[in-house]
Amino acid sequence: MKQMIEEIEVRAREELFINIQPIQAAGRLTPEAMKAIIAYGDGYSTCDWCMAPFRLDKIRMPPINEFHVKLAKFVGMDQARVVPGARRGFQAVVSSLVEKGDSVIVSALAHYTEFLAVENVGGIVKEVPLNEENIVTGENTAQKIEKVKKETGKLPKLIMMDHFDYMFGNEHDIHGIAKVAKEYDVPFLANCAYSLGVMPVNGKEMGADFLVGSGHKSFASPAPSGILATTNEWAEKVFRTTQMVGDLTGRKFGIKEVEMMGCTLMGANLIAMMASFPAVHERVKHWDDEIKKANYFIDEFLKIEGNKVLSEMPRKHTLTKVDTTGSFDKIARTHKRRGFFFSDELKKRRIIGEFAGATRQWKLNTYGLTWDQIKYLAEAFQDIAKKYGMNVA
Ligand SMILES: *Cc1c(COP(=O)(O)O)cnc(C)c1O
Repeated sequence: MKQMIEEIEVRAREELFINIQPIQAAGRLTPEAMKAIIAYGDGYSTCDWCMAPFRLDKIRMPPINEFHVKLAKFVGMDQARVVPGARRGFQAVVSSLVEKGDSVIVSALAHYTEFLAVENVGGIVKEVPLNEENIVTGENTAQKIEKVKKETGKLPKLIMMDHFDYMFGNEHDIHGIAKVAKEYDVPFLANCAYSLGVMPVNGKEMGADFLVGSGHKSFASPAPSGILATTNEWAEKVFRTTQMVGDLTGRKFGIKEVEMMGCTLMGANLIAMMASFPAVHERVKHWDDEIKKANYFIDEFLKIEGNKVLSEMPRKHTLTKVDTTGSFDKIARTHKRRGFFFSDELKKRRIIGEFAGATRQWKLNTYGLTWDQIKYLAEAFQDIAKKYGMNVA
């Protein structure tokens, strides 16, 4: 059976393969989240017990209210909201703080959704260059702020920086950047899309005014889902409630929050996040093991002659950018299937998630694989290399 219903394929990639796809690894659902999706799949299911003053994060049954409190504590901030993806978190903050023509400091590795959040309000992104190790530092951030100040006569309205970037999975100098943000008195958003939910993250310890996470990237949750957390001070601005009054009817809508459009994750997505939360709460304590496995795999991967790693070493994240121009790409140049020979070989060994056809620079993510799977994965790469006559140390 190939189709679950007409024209929609059965998706069994996680069941049938080892999946090293870079963005999918830590968003895989827990069994609890799967159950929650089935039970709460109907439209406005979470609204069964919604009582005055009518807002999603105030609902007590199921314990959505309690979840928000726990979530804020978990990320080390005063208040938290669930949002439809990290991008909607950026959007809420940017739309509250930035006006047309204002500058926003981002990294030279910033995610496209950060650009879009700024563009949406007519702001202008200003990118901080990377150092030789492809890291954003506090020092470079300070220099960029000075430059913006000189060129525009104004300070930027916001600094938005990635804890770990999506390109290399490198860790950036969040503490240093937060310190610079304080010195210039510019609010600081820590983009933890690749860290919140897989490793311990504490916003206040980081010195962040805003913390954003992605449910579907790193919190074992369905898409779209995400987290926006902040301090009590900034909550007043970003979680401001509606002041609008109907001119004809005089209607007002009480405590609905403007940036949240009243309520955000209504239904299964939120309940699935809540269902995954205990597992996520536990798994961040085992990040060390994930790093050990990632480094084991990468060490084995580097035994293949010509293989390179473009991310910082040793790895501090399970997402890694690799370069196989000097190894697998050499075969692809003359193979009748081109780069797809590599995907074919991996697939034969029940491995998927590499960018199909890519044999130069590509990314992989080993998050959540067992030691047995990690060892199998390393052997599979070496096996393919040997088959095509490459040297393996
Ligand atoms: C994936 C990613 C995002 C977008 O996250 P969504 O939850 O899909 O909106 C933003 N920033 C970085 C660094 C990412 O890796």
